[in-house]
Amino acid sequence: MSALSLQMPLVRLHQGRIPRLGPQRARALAAALADFLGLSDPQQVTVEDLLLYLPLRYEDRSHLARIVELRENMWASLEVVVRVTGHYAVKGGQLTIFELSATDETGQIRAFWWNRPWLEKTFPRGARVILYGQWRYNVSRRCFEVENPDFEVLTEEDDLAAAIHTGRRVPIYRKLGPFTTRPLRAILYHLVQQLTAENVPETLPEETLRRLRLIPRHEALRRVHFPDEETPLEDYNEARSPAHRRLIFEEFLRLQLALGLRREERERSPKGPCIRVDDRLREIVRTILPFRLTEGQRHALREIVRDMCSSRPMNRLLQGDVGSGKTIVALLAMVVAVENGYQAALMVPTEILAEQHARNIKRLLAHTPYRVELLTGSLRNAEKRELHEALSRGEIQIVIGTHALIQEGVRFHKLGLVVIDEQHRFGVLQRAELIRRGYNPDVLVMTATPIPRSLAMTVYGDLDVSIIRDLPPGRTPVRTFLRTEEARPAIYQFIATQVRAGRQVYIVYPLVEESEKMDLLNATQMADHLQRVVFPEFRVGLLHGKMRPAEKDDVMRRFLDREIDILVATTVIEVGVDVPNATVMLIEHAERFGLAQLHQLRGRVGRGAAESYCILLAHDLTTPEARERLRVMVETTDGFKIAEKDLEIRGPGELMGTRQSGAPVFRIAHLVRDRNLLELARREARLLLARRSQLPELKVLLEEIRRQPQYGLTSIG
Ligand code: ADP
Ligand code: MG
Repeated sequence: MSALSLQMPLVRLHQGRIPRLGPQRARALAAALADFLGLSDPQQVTVEDLLLYLPLRYEDRSHLARIVELRENMWASLEVVVRVTGHYAVKGGQLTIFELSATDETGQIRAFWWNRPWLEKTFPRGARVILYGQWRYNVSRRCFEVENPDFEVLTEEDDLAAAIHTGRRVPIYRKLGPFTTRPLRAILYHLVQQLTAENVPETLPEETLRRLRLIPRHEALRRVHFPDEETPLEDYNEARSPAHRRLIFEEFLRLQLALGLRREERERSPKGPCIRVDDRLREIVRTILPFRLTEGQRHALREIVRDMCSSRPMNRLLQGDVGSGKTIVALLAMVVAVENGYQAALMVPTEILAEQHARNIKRLLAHTPYRVELLTGSLRNAEKRELHEALSRGEIQIVIGTHALIQEGVRFHKLGLVVIDEQHRFGVLQRAELIRRGYNPDVLVMTATPIPRSLAMTVYGDLDVSIIRDLPPGRTPVRTFLRTEEARPAIYQFIATQVRAGRQVYIVYPLVEESEKMDLLNATQMADHLQRVVFPEFRVGLLHGKMRPAEKDDVMRRFLDREIDILVATTVIEVGVDVPNATVMLIEHAERFGLAQLHQLRGRVGRGAAESYCILLAHDLTTPEARERLRVMVETTDGFKIAEKDLEIRGPGELMGTRQSGAPVFRIAHLVRDRNLLELARREARLLLARRSQLPELKVLLEEIRRQPQYGLTSIG
């Protein structure tokens, strides 16, 4: 048996280490965890991954309540012995109830579950069980009862089992694949018993631990699963026990160190493009501009150009609400690069957007000598080859495309500026990757939706930030309404009125095809129905993600040219699409969309001078989060406020594009809940990096961070 280590593959954990964990179960556990973490290969899942699967909550079973102590509406765990069980049908056989009555030495209780008749096998008469739930007094039965409680059947296999699952503070886990809380608890119990200061080497410098009063890593990993008795259990349940603090702090610190390293990498990198701005260039910019820039746009442009002129390569994030006019700012930056003899690349997340940008930019630059080209996956090979050659010879000044532009090994003659539109779809661009390929351009990243300050600081901490706070003049805020199915006829009538007035309309559906379980309205069927039955006199178009790029582009062009009045679409139109004549956005199943998405969708209208409307049609408002999201949408159109709310409701997960790099950046930390620790980690990271020569222990940690793909650093080897 090899020594236990945290980096050991979980599939090898069995090998006699954990009772009743054979090779087959170890594989199943690794597979379930891989699934949870979004990893494709269960072999990659480590013992550490399992240890970082933290309990959902904790229960104090060292003092189980006794039946006499129950009070109305009290949440409590009882240990009782099953006396009688049975199930019966109600509502003419549509529903079943399984119930049991059980006792302890002080009284009798009743527990029941809906529609789980098989439970009868789970609770043999005489079994000792733990029931957890909210207790209510049933007057007619004259005893306390509990509906759908959490339960655990205690087995008498050995005394140890009883010692793991009761008589102490115990962790409750979210079900992981086939593993429910009890087997997970048993596995983790045996695992954490084996953790020592030797096989869990300390990762943080001694001095940090001492100064910030953090507990050692092996102890934190043990206590976070099996709480100590000294700390109040609420601290555990609110993720602020010493064990939680230590682990959360470390997660933040790693990210902050990674950002520090990234910044250093940039500062060390060779001199960026050499840019000058003179009167001739200012004049060219003026001739290209179709309108007066807003104050915010001017300010952002000044900051960008200042970066471009400096000898350090630019690494800037341009934030601005939907419709604030980020594109023109980026275009002018590209013109500055081109006029200085460099090439510029604009990368966007979808082909539809690439097409749209290419069309606009070609139009705006029509009277200049620049060659602007669109490079997408749907080009024929011969065309692609021709474009590649022209790019490497420097005959193309501006190239627009999807992320493939950088990935596919396109060669540039003299790449000076990379603009990335709608960033969070990609995750963070890896400058290291560009440098490795021999380029060191200025980089401008534009966000699709504002990012809350806390998150921007954290995730893009190595970027400088420009913010456009104003909108172009003459915009009236989009009016937003929340409606339910009864309003459909009125909504259709309203749409008809708008179309007759010469306006265009989007209708958005969550999915293209019906999934087996959800009876979602199908965009394809609906488009057909709307055309034939509801709006026969108008032209209805359809756009969805499964269409070929050329088809999508064709539909988009026809919508732009007003050959389509009503565009039925899935969320492929979510990001960036700009058709100023569209004034109505109807979102079906609005409750299924996230806030950032809803805000993006709404941002497709209100782009011209005419009053615009967003109608959120909700079909199911049962979850409080959905109600809250839609309420926020009706209340405000301010993207920065919405972003803060989004972070609050949903946590940062998706915003960070964690699943893309294959490993999430945060497993346990929560940006909103733990913001104090985040600030602490930020300061500590700065301190540690500054003093790294005196801290030999830090070297191991920094090397480890460099190797972790989610931080996007060049690993030095
Ligand atoms: P986003 O920031 O969401 O990417 P866009 O760059 O697509 O916004 O701009 C939205 C719309 O506003 C476009 O139609 C654009 O031409 C227009 N626009 C941008 N800046 C101005 C301005 N200063 N004055 C008038 N219209 C503008
Ligand atoms: Mg845009």
